[in-house]
Amino acid sequence: MKPAAFTYHRARDIEGATRLLAELGDEAKIIAGGQSLVAMMNFRLARPQHLVDISGLTGLDGMRGHPDGALHIGALTTHHAVETAPSAVLGPGFAVIRDAMRWIGHLPIRTRGTVGGSLAHADSTAEWCLLAVLLDAVLVAQGPGGERRIGAADFFHGYYTTALEPDEILVEVVFPRPAPRAALTEFAERKGDFATVAAAVDLDLAPDGGTVRAGRVALGGVAPLPVRVPEAEEVLGRGGPAGPRLFAECAATAADSVDPPTDDSNGSAHYRRVLIRTLVARACEEAISR
Ligand code: FAD
Repeated sequence: MKPAAFTYHRARDIEGATRLLAELGDEAKIIAGGQSLVAMMNFRLARPQHLVDISGLTGLDGMRGHPDGALHIGALTTHHAVETAPSAVLGPGFAVIRDAMRWIGHLPIRTRGTVGGSLAHADSTAEWCLLAVLLDAVLVAQGPGGERRIGAADFFHGYYTTALEPDEILVEVVFPRPAPRAALTEFAERKGDFATVAAAVDLDLAPDGGTVRAGRVALGGVAPLPVRVPEAEEVLGRGGPAGPRLFAECAATAADSVDPPTDDSNGSAHYRRVLIRTLVARACEEAISR
């Protein structure tokens, strides 16, 4: 399939791009890596009349740590750049982010697809969306009126829908603090596919290294957007030895607390609950083995 006809605009700077987006309104779409948008256009699921190409904008890629412990990642950074980032940038505190990249599609997709594109596309099983929700990321958008900072909890609105306005460009994602005991794991029918279910956890261990004091649990593929699971987090918050018993209880609670879609092409709600039990426990084990 070929896309419907469109007019191509190459953005030279962010201000010009946001002005153009404001002028063109709903008829325009930003294109970054094109790894999701072009497929949707080819299938005629998206028919923008104008494409505003931001891939040549300078200053929107790269990763930098902040003295307060936060990690800033530019929207045009590719998945592969994160996957191969030196440990001076993505050390033990953010290893969960680097390790999660291997789950995204195949190498050619990771070398072109961008962090900002993934977050703006807002697939509920996308690794970046799950990481943002798990780690309370802040998404920085720029529009004609200036910059706006949006917490991940308010950014995702539903299937492929976010808080971004049509004339706003996502410029950066900020992960506010290191998460040295976090892990993301998932199941997909074939390697490189979007996950059927993805699970991510961030554990807080006591100084003895063997006792869980608190934790966060996030799931993708069980709702229109990635979700935290407070009931499972409550199990971790009660505390206890970091081991199979606590992790199995947390995983079972997570499976019982969500309401996965029934019988779409990826499997039944029951099937997803079985996956949740396995994946949450596995993510906990991986998190403590870091
Ligand atoms: P584009 O395709 O260019 O744009 C996607 C959407 O985001 C468009 O609506 C566009 O207007 C908007 N957009 C892009 N950049 C911005 C910005 N800076 N500000 C505002 N809006 C913006 N992804 C996963 O997460 N996990 C997977 O397992 C996975 N598997 C894949 C398998 C295949 C075969 C393919 C083709 C893709 C897969 N992807 C997967 C998608 C991939 O990660 C894409 O890179 C990503 O979803 C979109 O990034 P992009 O830069 O290509 O965005």
